[in-house]
Amino acid sequence: MAAPTSIAVLGSTGSIGTSCLDVIRAHSTSLRAAGLVAHRSAERLCQQVSEFQPDWAVLGAPDAALPASRVGISGGSTKQVAWHQGLDKVPKLIQNAEIDTVVCAMVGAAGLPATWAAVDAGKRVALANKESLVVAGSLIMRRAVETGAAVIPVDSEHSAIYQCLQSGRRADVRRVILTASGGPFRGFSKDQLRDVTPEMALKHPTWNMGPKISVDSATMMNKALEIIEARWLFGLAPEEISVVIHPQSYVHSLVEFRDGSVISQMSPPDMRLPIQYALMFPLRPDGPARKPDWTQPQTLELLPPDFDAFPALRLGFEAVQRGGTCGAVLNAANEVAVARFLNRELPFFRITQVVEDVLNHHQFDAQPTMEQLLQIDSWAREEAARWKT
Ligand code: MG
Repeated sequence: MAAPTSIAVLGSTGSIGTSCLDVIRAHSTSLRAAGLVAHRSAERLCQQVSEFQPDWAVLGAPDAALPASRVGISGGSTKQVAWHQGLDKVPKLIQNAEIDTVVCAMVGAAGLPATWAAVDAGKRVALANKESLVVAGSLIMRRAVETGAAVIPVDSEHSAIYQCLQSGRRADVRRVILTASGGPFRGFSKDQLRDVTPEMALKHPTWNMGPKISVDSATMMNKALEIIEARWLFGLAPEEISVVIHPQSYVHSLVEFRDGSVISQMSPPDMRLPIQYALMFPLRPDGPARKPDWTQPQTLELLPPDFDAFPALRLGFEAVQRGGTCGAVLNAANEVAVARFLNRELPFFRITQVVEDVLNHHQFDAQPTMEQLLQIDSWAREEAARWKT
């Protein structure tokens, strides 16, 4: 039997990371967790290390205390686990020849150096960190072509598009249609959105996610990020991307071909399916993801989005149109604005306004280098932090 695929899971204690470990656990003869990276959930990481016995584990935050119990683990009877501290250790570890696949599931632009390292080393990259592509999509996808790295999206919409694209030629694609649940405030007017609290924004109707992406889903900035992500992943022009509201989160996205056929990917909302697909492509074995239930009546709605109540959508299309530094600025300003909203420093409706203001004031560059992107990222963060409510 072939050796199992060695997988590095970056962000292993988060929502995507734990789902990824569910998939690895369910396919323990063909998949193996070879490395685990967590930000600062030391105890959780310790439990994962003890269950999955990786070759190495990294606690990213330089100030987080390594738990005492790890001594018992690394000196344990089964194997020696190498512990490291600091995100700067990650690129070298994942570029090691032993690693086949890197799951990039860290939150925010902090995931970019690791994504770059994985692509640079020609690994299969199961990409859940959409910010990497939003910030530096042009550079990452060009490097992937050079190194032969397969970038397979984990984001449910982009996984769906990736799957739908298997049924036709790229040249015959008319458009991709990203579905959006509409978040907890679907149907709200501009006025109703003024008094939204963090508690309200953190309650998502169909997906159980971390706080940052829950707020992004509520403002629909998540869809703006996904529009930019799709542009880079699939090499699309702005007019080749559409968004439809689909409250049931069952149709994960669609591809329309030139002959008028629309191919969609449907499944009960469960991130373990796109994760397993990215890890095992092109195989589709049984796995831990929930299965459809055809005995229950089911209604699927597809509705046009409200660009007026959710101006973030428009920002996404504008960022694709202009390209260059826009994705990096939009993403950075949004991360700060979301944190300030969760901190009760900014009202909900100001999140998108702050992002738009920072976008409009930035020094645009159509062909930025990675250094320039990182610089403009810091600049946009400072700007968004000092913007008044
Ligand atoms: Mg998504």
